[in-house]
Amino acid sequence: MADPLHERDLARPALDLVARAAGRYLEALPDLPVRDPAADVVFDRLGGPLPERGDGTLASIEELLDIGTRGAIQSSGPRFFHLVVGGATPAAQAGDWVTGLLDQPAGLWIGSPLATEAETVVLGWLKDLFGLPDTYGGVLTPSATFANLTALACARHWWAARHGVDVSADGLAGLPTMPVLASGYVHPSNRKALQILGCGRDTIRICARDDAGRVDIDAMERALIEIDGPAVLIASAGEVNTGDFDPIDALADLARRYGAWLHVDGAFGLFAGVSPRLAHLVRGVERAHSVAADGHKWLNVPYESGFVFVRDADMLGRAFGSWNAPYLPEAGDTHLDYNRLGPESSRRARALPIWATLRAYGRSGYREMIERHHDLACRLGELVEEAPELEPLAPVRLCVVCFRYRPVESGPDARTEAELDELNRRLGAELNADGRVYVGTTVYRGRVALRPAIVNWRTSAADIDLFAAVVREIGARVAAEPRGGTPTTGDA
Ligand SMILES: *Cc1c(COP(=O)(O)O)cnc(C)c1O
Repeated sequence: MADPLHERDLARPALDLVARAAGRYLEALPDLPVRDPAADVVFDRLGGPLPERGDGTLASIEELLDIGTRGAIQSSGPRFFHLVVGGATPAAQAGDWVTGLLDQPAGLWIGSPLATEAETVVLGWLKDLFGLPDTYGGVLTPSATFANLTALACARHWWAARHGVDVSADGLAGLPTMPVLASGYVHPSNRKALQILGCGRDTIRICARDDAGRVDIDAMERALIEIDGPAVLIASAGEVNTGDFDPIDALADLARRYGAWLHVDGAFGLFAGVSPRLAHLVRGVERAHSVAADGHKWLNVPYESGFVFVRDADMLGRAFGSWNAPYLPEAGDTHLDYNRLGPESSRRARALPIWATLRAYGRSGYREMIERHHDLACRLGELVEEAPELEPLAPVRLCVVCFRYRPVESGPDARTEAELDELNRRLGAELNADGRVYVGTTVYRGRVALRPAIVNWRTSAADIDLFAAVVREIGARVAAEPRGGTPTTGDA
């Protein structure tokens, strides 16, 4: 087998193979273990030398489907609570297939007017969904990391201009360090963005009033007075350990008073704004200069999907446009080229699955899903409260439940904090090795903790009850092991 031209009639049968496998896979998904470590043996079949003569279309796809459906982690199923990983709604998943089918080069209008129009429409719908002014500029990105990068590139452009420098043309040389202030909640992706932008990963001044990282507004204000010039504030809407929020309104007040740029990282927390009962958590977000979020988390669109909005719509073009490449459209071209508004050049039409899911379920569908997840998080919070050996470490705010296992022991038998950390680390690793549920550990206020995040449309009360039962079962087993005898394993 060689030239794909000889197999042109096999495109349709190949897709039929995928569709048939998809039916079986999706039917089984709710009951599959999240991870079956024994299935890792299929990874061996990925390897080998580059084929000299290929196997052909159908053999290749059959093999990929077999390896994939066995070896994949079932992160789009209902009991994957690690990280913050959304599923794929039926419409978003099918919309993603349409994106692959049409294979649009979505960077330039001339490459795909369809993708451009769809991107403009979904950005408008998303602004409406989150209560952001329609006048904000925006662009779809691969992720919240890229959305933060895009927003902070705009902030950097604004800041440099305040120092009389066009950073797009001339770079950062000669400028001072850009002052960036945040609470301890700031997500590492903002550091990564600053690192890429040449502003430095470790330049963020953390203004926190406790070991959880909650913002110290007075300290932030003192820092702004001391800086006495343009600065960038980052507000976290939905912190990953507990789902807590910075008070966006209070940061917006500071930004206004001291002429700072306010960026809101709302990767998943921005979605609180969709529910009237949770919207107070993001009060003030419409006052931000930039807002970043993910589509592949709570929007339940397949990877990769993110988006960013910027109040000064021109800033995106200033930070990312003007390439001076003669084969690209002229300046003044009236058609919008989204690749001039963000860090990517060629890109897929990632508007299409977003369009499909918003068209399918609308504002009310998303409100129901988000409120259901909040209810489920509260239910898990109650199960934790009721279980004598489970200890809540933070109130349930949105969709994350932060707690640890703490056996009922007293007197000389009671474990030290270090032993409890070791126990919870083992518990996290054992839970994931068991595979019925999947969850991550974190260190919150110096303690190793579990922090399940509930953001998958499929997750039900039965999944939550099973999660709590499995934690208690495996926790009891791990707690009964001889102490100090097991070597420390890495964080799961
Ligand atoms: C997940 C997350 C990010 C990064 O998102 P990616 O999609 O992984 O790039 C940034 N900020 C917050 C608050 C997050 O939860």
